[in-house]
Amino acid sequence: MSSPSFAPVDELNAYCRFCQKIIPAHLDRSIAGNGRLLDKESTFEYFCTKCRKTFCYTGKDLLPSEDASKASTEPRDYVPKNHYLIGEKISHKKFKDTGLVVGKDRGVPARILVQFEKSGFKKLVEDI
Ligand SMILES: [Zn+2]
Repeated sequence: MSSPSFAPVDELNAYCRFCQKIIPAHLDRSIAGNGRLLDKESTFEYFCTKCRKTFCYTGKDLLPSEDASKASTEPRDYVPKNHYLIGEKISHKKFKDTGLVVGKDRGVPARILVQFEKSGFKKLVEDI
């Protein structure tokens, strides 16, 4: 099965665990598997514009570059079984708040890191 090629956004607001803040991060390099095209399974390395440390995400967690404007559109309702992308806006019914997905916590279950407008920084489960 072949996946279509994929290019993620060049810049995103990410939670930097070294700075412990949300900092603009830039795409540093794309790491594809042996001779493969870049796709959603590839790893993309971003660096924090403040501390310059790097962190990796897979394509599955990133907005495609042609879709960067999606970040400024309507927030998507938060539902724990859904998968969210870094840079996406979500709305949370119980908190009555909207937030920006700024990172991922690769545990079981997986969690998204969200900066809410009123409720502040939260971790929410996804993909359950
Ligand atoms: Zn940093």
